[in-house]
Amino acid sequence: MIIGHERKVRYLERVLKNGRAAHAYLFTGPDSIGKRTIARHFARALLCTTSPVEFGGCGACVACRAVEAETHPSVLVLDVAHALVPPRKEESRTKISLDDIHEVRRRFSFAPRAGEWRIALIDEAEMMSGEAANGILKLLEEPGERVVFLLITAHPELVLPTIASRAEVVRFLPVADRVIRACLVEKGISNADQETMTLLSDGCPGRALAFIQDRQKLADAVARRERVRAVLSGHDGVEALALSLGVAGDGTEEWAILDEVWRELHVRLKTTGNNTEYKSLVRKIKKVDILATTLATTNANPRLVLDVILLEAVGR
Ligand SMILES: [Zn+2]
Repeated sequence: MIIGHERKVRYLERVLKNGRAAHAYLFTGPDSIGKRTIARHFARALLCTTSPVEFGGCGACVACRAVEAETHPSVLVLDVAHALVPPRKEESRTKISLDDIHEVRRRFSFAPRAGEWRIALIDEAEMMSGEAANGILKLLEEPGERVVFLLITAHPELVLPTIASRAEVVRFLPVADRVIRACLVEKGISNADQETMTLLSDGCPGRALAFIQDRQKLADAVARRERVRAVLSGHDGVEALALSLGVAGDGTEEWAILDEVWRELHVRLKTTGNNTEYKSLVRKIKKVDILATTLATTNANPRLVLDVILLEAVGR
C-alpha cells in the first residue's frame, strides 16, 4: 500500500504509460518514507501479467505477488543485508560488494526472456563499496535492453555524483500528517494513539505502520524522544554522556538517538525566535551532520562519535 506521494506516483505512472521509463532512477528520502514500496510498485507495473498499465500492476497475479515478496527472478534485490553472492569471508557484511554488481551484470547480460523487463532494486545505495559503485557506474553507461535500475538511498550525499547524474533523481518528501492520520483512522487506531503515532512518524508512513505492528516500538520511541528532549534542555554534559553510555554497543539504538537529536535540533531551529539561539542551532546541526557522515562512512567508534554529538548538542 502506498501512503501519500500522489504526485510522484502520478509522474511514474505517466512515464510507464508512455513507455518512457529511464534506465535508472535514484529514489532519495528518509528511511521508511515509502521509497522501496514505490520501487516495488514500479517493478510490478513492468512485470504484471494482467494489467501492466496500472502503476503497481494488478497486485494479485503471480508476478505481482513475487515482486512484492521480493522473490521475482527478474527483480534483483540488493542491500547490505541481502547479497546476491554470499560473502567470501565469514565476517558480517557491511557493504554492497563488487561481487554483487558482477552478478547483476552477468544476469543482465542474457537477452530478456520474451521481452520481459529486468530490474535491479538496490537499496542503501550509499553503502556500495568504492569498487561496487564504479561497477554500477559502468552498468549505467551501458544498461542493456529492457533493464531498469532502481537505486534507493536515505543518504544521497554519500552516493557518487557520477551515479546520481546518470539516474533520474526522485526526491521523496515527508508525507502530510493528515494523510498518515487518515490511514491510521482507516486501520481503526484509537484517537490518542493516532496523535502519538502521527507525531512520531515524522512524515514517514513506514514508521507509523511499524508502530501498529509493534506497540513496544511506539513506547520506545516515546521514551527516546522524551529522554533526548530532557537531555538537550538540561545542557548537562554528564547527562549527555550517560545517555550515550546507555545505548553503547547497540548500533540501531545509537542511530535512533542520533536521528532524534538531529530532529529535535531542527524542531528547535524552526520554533526559536531568538537570533543567538538560532545561530547556535545552525552551528550544532552542521557539526552533527558532519559527525553523522563520519559515523556512516568510516570505522569511527560509534560510542565516541555519539559522545561528541551529544556534548555538542547540549552545549550552550
Ligand atoms: Zn499483476
